Amino acid sequence: MIPSQNFEWSEANVVEKTNLGERLVGLRLCVPGWVTHTPGQYIDVRIKTQKGYNAVKQYSISSPPHDQSVELCVEIFENGEVSPILRDLNIGNKLDVRGPLGVHFVWDGSASEPVVAIAGGTGITPFVSMLRHYEHRALRQDFFLFASAQNQKKLPYISEIMSLAKKATAVTFVPVMTRDSTWDGPKGRIDAVLLRQILKLKNPLVYICGSTSFVEHVVDLVVKFGFSQNNIRTEFFI
Ligand SMILES: Cc1cc2nc3c(=O)[nH]c(=O)nc-3n(C[C@H](O)[C@H](O)[C@H](O)COP(=O)(O)OP(=O)(O)OC[C@H]3O[C@@H](n4cnc5c(N)ncnc54)[C@H](O)[C@@H]3O)c2cc1C
Repeated sequence: MIPSQNFEWSEANVVEKTNLGERLVGLRLCVPGWVTHTPGQYIDVRIKTQKGYNAVKQYSISSPPHDQSVELCVEIFENGEVSPILRDLNIGNKLDVRGPLGVHFVWDGSASEPVVAIAGGTGITPFVSMLRHYEHRALRQDFFLFASAQNQKKLPYISEIMSLAKKATAVTFVPVMTRDSTWDGPKGRIDAVLLRQILKLKNPLVYICGSTSFVEHVVDLVVKFGFSQNNIRTEFFI
């Protein structure tokens, strides 16, 4: 499966803005001529910065392929070039985008192998698209999602994925909080003990997404488990 990409810029319209947590903004875009995407793909966003030049940044798509609009989850870095500008957009504002893009970090549900998805913070975004697609198609593969954040407010979509996992018996969602005294689930960094339940899986497709340090840490763990490196895919949110 080679996903389609579109490298032409177009002017998208912001049609919805939501609060997805602490310093997390959801933007729904209507993109003229948008056809569909494969879960895991992202779009390029081009913004004129305060200094007057254009900056291009990538944002994973959290909406599923059957959705006609494109949903993003943006983490706001106060000293960042682009994310504060995206935070300040309102319904009706326009911005230049192109996509869908990305051919490697994708999953369309056609493979029968189990999936292990491991996310740091907003790294959950492409997996939300995958799981919404999974639910829409009533898929049956084992799908494990481990998601790490400092606390529940910093993990977007946590309630939605919890209820999806309750309904879909083959979906296991393991949120892990590093600094959350109110959390009664797993705490601390993702480690080999937490991941041991995936050792029973045969040839899983492993997807890891988040900051560079998070992805490098988790890749080390997973490689030590002996899974085929051909089945390990990474997305660095840099
Ligand atoms: C394929 C891909 C998909 C992506 N998808 C998403 C997404 O769905 N949602 C999202 O919010 N971002 C995503 N990103 C990251 C996004 O493209 C920007 O890098 C991010 O929004 C920061 O941009 P900025 O211009 O606001 O900050 P910058 O001006 O680039 O950086 C500002 C400050 O924040 C720090 N910083 C930037 N990013 C991080 C980070 N991830 N962790 C820790 N510190 C950081 C920088 O070191 C710097 O100090 C993705 C990146 C890639 C490559």
